[in-house]
Amino acid sequence: MRLRFAPSPTGYLHVGGARTALFNWLLARRHGGSFILRIEDTDLSRSTEEAIEAIIRDMRWLGLDWDEGPEVGGEHWPYRQTGRVNLYRRAAEELMRKGAAYRCFCLPEELAERREKALKEGKSPMYDRRCRRIPWEESRDMAKDGKPFAIRFAVPEGETVVRDLVRGEVRFRNQEIEDFVLLRNDGSPTYNLAVVVDDLDMRITHVVRGDDHLPNTPKQILLYRALEAEEPAFAHLPMIVGRDGKPLSKRHGDVAVGSFRERGFLPDAMVNFLALLGWSLDDSTTIMDRDTLVAGFALERVSSKPAVWDDEKLVWMNSQYIMAMDDQALAQALMPFLAQAGLAEEGDPGALERMRRISPLVRERIKTLTDAVPLVAFFFREVEAEEDARELLRGEESRAVLRETGKRLLELESFDAAALEESMRAMADEMGVKPRKAFQPVRAAVSGSRVSPPLFESMEILGRETCLRRIARSLEEN
Ligand code: GLU
Repeated sequence: MRLRFAPSPTGYLHVGGARTALFNWLLARRHGGSFILRIEDTDLSRSTEEAIEAIIRDMRWLGLDWDEGPEVGGEHWPYRQTGRVNLYRRAAEELMRKGAAYRCFCLPEELAERREKALKEGKSPMYDRRCRRIPWEESRDMAKDGKPFAIRFAVPEGETVVRDLVRGEVRFRNQEIEDFVLLRNDGSPTYNLAVVVDDLDMRITHVVRGDDHLPNTPKQILLYRALEAEEPAFAHLPMIVGRDGKPLSKRHGDVAVGSFRERGFLPDAMVNFLALLGWSLDDSTTIMDRDTLVAGFALERVSSKPAVWDDEKLVWMNSQYIMAMDDQALAQALMPFLAQAGLAEEGDPGALERMRRISPLVRERIKTLTDAVPLVAFFFREVEAEEDARELLRGEESRAVLRETGKRLLELESFDAAALEESMRAMADEMGVKPRKAFQPVRAAVSGSRVSPPLFESMEILGRETCLRRIARSLEEN
């Protein structure tokens, strides 16, 4: 099996595109096939280098590796349509030779005008095929005289049936298909021509893509036939919609893969979530690692009904994946976020080790990686106490507790959570203060907040010196 993901680099990678890429990748990995990344950048006015870079970065982040394509190479290099234009021109010429395509001398302005007129009159805006009737010699001479022309496909009569692996048979009446342009009058290829030439040349066996492309499929099938080539199998994936049933768009919130990375989602959670947009393993399993997905993925279980994007489910799923991470992995995943917040430097082994020790204290309190940043900041830098913490710290009882705590911390032999807890409980007892109440000012002084990760474990990680310094500072300032 040879599969491909063929994004047009006109913007960021949309989660819908990522779902398409993922399904292709899963099929390729499941069947030991090849997964190809091809950049469809024929639309020069809308394609950008940044978009290509962003697609590559996001694909890598998701862990969807490709066997042929940008950065990887392969026998069909370059895997960018702008570098393959000669192939498309040759194919268009071949189609002309075979009588399956013809020159169209209508100018874009004329076409637009006719279209508008037809629409106004309530007629079909389709091209009226007038240039199809120009005799061959005449057409050749006009071209020789330098008249600009596009090349159009001569859609034959009859019916075209798409045998879709998800939707079954879908029939199209050819009379409803326009004689579509293959090459524009500037010599640039259109999507339908380039995609067929590339899929043929790259020996793609299965075209798996969003169902917004279904109307293109009969055109492409007709092209394969005209080129006397066998068409690949087609599978059109269901649309992704928001909870309101409308196609997922910015109105619904984030739709760029990059935003989810920035928000602190894990690639594994994202992949798991995307896999369930239109596919299911059975009727109940939700959490599946990559191996399970690869082993279980099959087009037979892809639904043709729209898939609903549910942000809450994604957040929940992400928290499940965070919960399952070991301390080291979680610390590593958090480092870029700490770095971004200016709390640590990414490659600092000391910071990583500290984060590894903090990980068990925050793992169950966060749903995304970014959630951790405010919770752990006080481990990495001095923090200004929040206002309600300051208020608490000003109280007489609080100050007495802090003074006493300071003394005890100095005397502790081993500065660990168990010893800290024992000593502080004894202190509360002696002072006649309820333990929870006695711990509050200590928490506020060392963390700057009235809510923090578990106090004694946190103090152990902060170390004696830092705790003492923060307690002293708190007594001075409040
Ligand atoms: N470049 C097309 C797109 O981004 C790909 C369509 C296809 O997979 O054939 O929608």
